Parts: sequence; structure tokens; C-alpha cells
Amino acid sequence: MMQQSYNTLSILSILIAVLLCAPTQAIAVPWAGGFSQPHPEQSSKHRIFPQLTWLRDTAIEKVFGLPPKPTQPGCDKHATSRPINSQLPSTLLAKYGGDVVLRFNLSTPQEEHALAEAADTLFLDVWEFTSNWADIRLREDDAYSNLMPDLAKTIYQSYPSITFSEPSSPANHEAFTPVLRASNGVDNIFFQNYQPLSVIIPWMRLMTSMFTTHVRMINIGTTYEGRDIHALRVGVSPNLSQDPSEPRKTIIISGGFHAREWISVSTVTYIAWSLITAYGKTPGITKLLQEFDFVFIPTVNPDGYIYTWENDRLWRKNRQQTDLRFCRGLDLDRAFGFEWDGNTLSSNPCSESYPGVEPFQAVESQRLARWAKNETENNNVKFVGFLDLHSYSQQVLYPYSYSCNADPPSLENLEELGLGLAKAIRISSGQQYGVASACEGAVPSNKAPAGGASRMETGGGSAIDWFYHEMRVRFSYQIKLRDTGSYGFLLPKENIIPTGEEAFNAVKYFGDFLLGNKGIENILAEDSDKAIFNTAAKVAEDELVEIEEDVEYYETEDVNWDLKRRRRR
Ligand SMILES: [Zn+2]
Repeated sequence: MMQQSYNTLSILSILIAVLLCAPTQAIAVPWAGGFSQPHPEQSSKHRIFPQLTWLRDTAIEKVFGLPPKPTQPGCDKHATSRPINSQLPSTLLAKYGGDVVLRFNLSTPQEEHALAEAADTLFLDVWEFTSNWADIRLREDDAYSNLMPDLAKTIYQSYPSITFSEPSSPANHEAFTPVLRASNGVDNIFFQNYQPLSVIIPWMRLMTSMFTTHVRMINIGTTYEGRDIHALRVGVSPNLSQDPSEPRKTIIISGGFHAREWISVSTVTYIAWSLITAYGKTPGITKLLQEFDFVFIPTVNPDGYIYTWENDRLWRKNRQQTDLRFCRGLDLDRAFGFEWDGNTLSSNPCSESYPGVEPFQAVESQRLARWAKNETENNNVKFVGFLDLHSYSQQVLYPYSYSCNADPPSLENLEELGLGLAKAIRISSGQQYGVASACEGAVPSNKAPAGGASRMETGGGSAIDWFYHEMRVRFSYQIKLRDTGSYGFLLPKENIIPTGEEAFNAVKYFGDFLLGNKGIENILAEDSDKAIFNTAAKVAEDELVEIEEDVEYYETEDVNWDLKRRRRR
């Protein structure tokens, strides 16, 4: 028995080591040359608008009056000054060194409207907004209220430290070995850092190899640049003797629509991992996976995600060519075919939320929609839930996104479950998430939004609206994860597990609600009270048992072939 456990541990350690060491070459290049290229968007902005800086100054002055002092009330100043920059790669400094993120506090609809107009006209990069504030990235010489004063350094710190290790050195292998001993709480190495796609995909394959009873890898479609959009289908439907005429109730959990929102990608994998490893051990989760299939799509936008690792950490859109040579990319979350409003926007390819020239022009959005339609029409699937993870601002948003003047038919249910999700998060971690219609955004204080607010980022053609309306998904949400602006898209890696954990608790609540249990005092919550899977460490311990059962599987040719192929890269 001891011998077998030892073997099990060794095999798993080797697998994880292979998974994490093999692609370090790919991780190691974020600024090894990519940054020396001029930013296509910025260069074209300057080409088209040589007076951009002057225009911005004028517009901002018009909207907000003269620049306030940084300490003035009304300007959040989250970040303290940090040591400067001597160790940063010079190419990174050149690209981001002059950028800052500003928070504009919005107290009237007029202010919001004016800022929205300025953002549209000047193609400002609006990071996030609620009904109370908007964060906008600007060149430093426009800086008035400085939310993130040293963007280059923050970006530098947001890449995993593995970036700077020698690839595949023996020391690295040793460092990875004790992973699953899980002695000190949260030792799951996969969630210690953000992971590039070259690690995420083999990790997904590993999941399917280890948990053959309830995990399968599927392909949603092909991206603009020809990559597969991979997903994990988790559930036990093939093993059930259920009435074949009954459609399989399925919940989609997606991340990475917007490339720079890395926490959404890690959180999708964290939720997947937590559900997968709790199956068969935690009665509530086992029941959930008997009743529902889950489809986890860690990144809907792989082209963009890779671009954020190798070229531009703050890239948002996909990488599709547009009519304007220097401005690539369509906003996948504005490209869906329900209430698409691209023709009514001041639509320019350089905009961060460019929706294309017609609905579903964005390749990846079209692939996802086509896959979903095919599932319902040909594969006897009924989608009952859609959770689209984004960042940042800590909000649970429900349809409609396209307009505040139209109420969704099941508004009360959407609100009720949305509030439940926020409550589940609050109980889990103490974090406050606001709940609101996606057309208006929300703030944790539940302060009533300004009447008739104009919209800066949400709008027509959104994924949650399309799934809600076209696919009749009764419970369709966009959840904006941590934080509320201190780091924004550059959320430090220490947040990966806590954010994953609070989102997993929301998903348990979601499942429980769909199972017909209301409130949080029920089977799934009881399970979590017992802390059976409250930490990755616990899950990892459980997994050792599972591995013992699966250990023979690694001997099969398929898996070995797959791993050998990875080693060759
Ligand atoms: Zn987003």
C-alpha cells in the first residue's frame, strides 16, 4: 500500500512537472521583442489624430473642469507610490511607462454622458465603470487623478515569476515535486500563478485523462488565427440511464472574452477543478453533476489571450483584421446577433469595443453561437445557465445589456438569483459584489443608479443577452470578478485562489438554486461547511485517492503519446 501511494505520487508529480515545465519557453517571452513593435492601435491613433493629446485635455477639461489635485476628495487614490523602475525591461517602459489609469467619479447623468461621448470620440480605453465611477487609461501627461500611477511596473509584476526561471532546469523540477503533498493549505501549483494557454490546454487534457468518468474535452470551434477554442464538458450524462428524449440540462461557464481579464480565465479553471475533484466524494456535487452537465470554456478568445502574454498585456479584443489596417480586433462581447447596435454607434475599428460591421462578424463569437445552436438542435442539449466571467469591479449583472428600457420577462427570478450569488460570495469571503441589470452596472452599496444613465461599455450584441433571448437560457449572468480598481486587470496572482473559491461558492449556490433548493442553508452549503472542498489543498488530498484508481490509465498508449509529444516541443 505504501509502495503504491508512493508510485502514485511520483507519477502525478512527474505529470505536473511536465505540464508546467514544458512550455516555459513560451512563457519566457512576454517582452523579449514583442514590445519593440509600435502598438498598432496607438500608432494609428496618433496617425489619425495628431492633436489627440490636445483634444483629450480639452474634452476632459470641458467635462470635469480644471484638473483636481490628487488628494482632493472625489479622486480615489488606491495605489501608494512604489519604487521606480530600474529593473523593468526598457521596451516595457517605452510602451507603458507613460500610461496611467484614472478614476473619474460620476455624480450626475450629465457627467456620465459627457465622459461617454469623450470616450467614444477619442477612442479612450475605458477599463471599467459603474454608475458611480469610470476608470480610463490615458497617457501620463493627461493624468489628473491617479489610480494606478506606475502601470509599467504593475504589468511587470502581474506576469508569473516563472517567466524569469531557466526553462526546464533540474532545480525547477525539484521545486515542482512536492506539489500534491499539500502540507500548508493551498499548494496547488497550477493556481499559484496565471497560466498561459500552452499550459492550460495540456492541463485540460490531464483533467480528461485523470477523471474519465465525468470529464471530456470538446472543441467549440476555430479562432480567426486558426486555434481551437477548447472546453471541458463535465457531467455524467453518458453513464446515466435517463430518458433519451429528455434534453440534457447544461450550464456554460466561460472566461476570457476579453483577453486582458486573466482572472476570468483562472477562475473558470478553478471552478472546473473544484467540481471535477469533488465528484463522487461530496454528495451535493455528485448530485449536481448527475442532474446537469457543465461546459467550461476558460478562454473564448485564445488569439487575444496569447497576444496578452506575448505582446500587449492590456489587449482586450480578438485579433481579427478590420477595414482599418492599423486597428485590429473586434469586441467579442458586442458582436452577438441580438440587438446588435454596431450601426448606431460611432463605430470605429480603433475603439476598444468595436463590434464589427455586422452581427457575428467576430469569428469567435460566431463559433460559440453556432456551437450552442448545434448542441440544442442536434445533440439534445438544453442550456439552462450561462455564467460569463469578466473582470473587474465585482458585479453580478443580468440581462438586458442592450437597453435599460426593456425588462427581461423573468426579471424577478434573475434578480433573486443574482442577489443569491452575491450573498454566496459574501458569506464565502466577505467580498462585496453589486447586483444590477447589465445596462447600468452596479455598486456594492446598492445606491440607486443615476436615472437614464448612458452606457460606456455594456451595450447591444452582448453574449448574456443573446443566450438569454435566443437560446432561452433562463439564468444568464455576466459576473465581473475582483477587484474594485486597485489593480484592475493586473490583479496580483495571490487573488487567483480566493477569487476562484468565492466564485465556486457562487456556482454551488447557482446549482442549488436550479436544483430547486432556495437559500444557502442546504446540501451544497452544508458540504462546504464541512470544508470538504473548501481549499485546493483538501481537494488535492482527495485527488490522491482518485489517482490510485486511475493510475493504470497512465500506462495506456494514448496518454503516453500525448505527454511524449509535449516533451518534444
Ligand atoms: Zn470583459
